Amino acid sequence: MDEVEAVVIGAGVIGLAAARALALAGHEVIVLERAYTIGFETSSRNSEVIHGGLYYPKGSLKARSCVEGRERLYAYCREHGVPHAALGKLIVATSEEEIPGVEKIDVAARSNGVDNLEWLSASEAQRLEPELHCVTALLSPSTGIIDSHALMLAYQGDAEAAGAFVAFRTPVLGGHVRGDGFELSVGGDEPTTLRCRHLVNAAGLYAPAVAHAIEGVPPESIPPAYFCRGVYFTLSGRSPFRRLIYPVPVPGGLGVHITLDLAGQARFGPDVEWIGAVDYAVDPRRGDQFYAAVRRYWPCLRDGTLQPGSGRRSAAPPSRPPTLSCRGPRRTASRASSISTASNRRG
Ligand SMILES: Cc1cc2nc3c(=O)[nH]c(=O)nc-3n(C[C@H](O)[C@H](O)[C@H](O)COP(=O)(O)OP(=O)(O)OC[C@H]3O[C@@H](n4cnc5c(N)ncnc54)[C@H](O)[C@@H]3O)c2cc1C
Repeated sequence: MDEVEAVVIGAGVIGLAAARALALAGHEVIVLERAYTIGFETSSRNSEVIHGGLYYPKGSLKARSCVEGRERLYAYCREHGVPHAALGKLIVATSEEEIPGVEKIDVAARSNGVDNLEWLSASEAQRLEPELHCVTALLSPSTGIIDSHALMLAYQGDAEAAGAFVAFRTPVLGGHVRGDGFELSVGGDEPTTLRCRHLVNAAGLYAPAVAHAIEGVPPESIPPAYFCRGVYFTLSGRSPFRRLIYPVPVPGGLGVHITLDLAGQARFGPDVEWIGAVDYAVDPRRGDQFYAAVRRYWPCLRDGTLQPGSGRRSAAPPSRPPTLSCRGPRRTASRASSISTASNRRG
């Protein structure tokens, strides 16, 4: 039986960051990833926004981590050449009734230490973004965008340079807790059993299932999984906006907003749909709801210009289907969605 000091399950952005930190602290680390590459799940199906830290409840771990983490992330990007841009973001009220919703965000943000927000009148906002319709807007200059795949590659590079090893097509099937660590049953081309002293479960949407498969992990310590699916649509042609545009949030999500990637491509979404299990299949007719939602703040949006977008932003398509437990096709031109868990649903 093989033995290693620390195992990280999952090579998404969290697993790679954890592996990097452990390896730099001098630990012996193996990352076990069931897909054929890094960032195969949620970490390549998101909006790639560096959040300003505006929305989270005062004093929460997310509030504290986001404000400090945002500055550390910008610094890391600069030092490691990870492409990023601090474009800024506008949160817009499209009617008088929506103003209290924006005011609430302002109050939450300031109580979290975000002290550079700026209220803009309709005409000031339109001077920045001429096609925007709003009655007022809140500007967050610290919000930005990042090449998430480049970030993961940088983390992987740092981790490997410090001695970590990332094993692909290597699913963790189960295991049990031992007095001084864990024993894991590992599948793939060469199934094996692996002992480790420290275990980081960074399996994303599957983390609760992985924890349940490890005998001896107290079931009451495992959070239940609630799945939420979000769909994106991309805009054909040039983006009329240079900043990210967000409406007032809706329950469970941030509302159908516009984000840009580093090539300037505009993308709308994600929306919010609670589902029972991981399932990426999407009804393309949902585009109708997107036109209505976007026209509230961009009335000039023309019919026929929104295309079902690729939620997958950066990982290359698989050469053969990976081992997956989700139902339905992973991604085609006409089906695009990302799924988050309840604890991970702010896009
Ligand atoms: C629609 C959407 C938009 C978002 N937008 C943003 C944003 O703009 N900015 C932001 O900061 N965050 C955003 N997020 C959140 C962010 O994407 C996630 O927090 C992050 O990607 C989670 O990374 P992870 O490593 O935990 O999970 P994942 O990226 O899902 O990685 C988990 C990995 O574990 C592997 N795995 C699973 N089971 C096993 C197993 N049994 N054995 C081995 N490997 C296994 C998977 O293959 C996968 O590679 C968004 C999320 C969603 C859903």
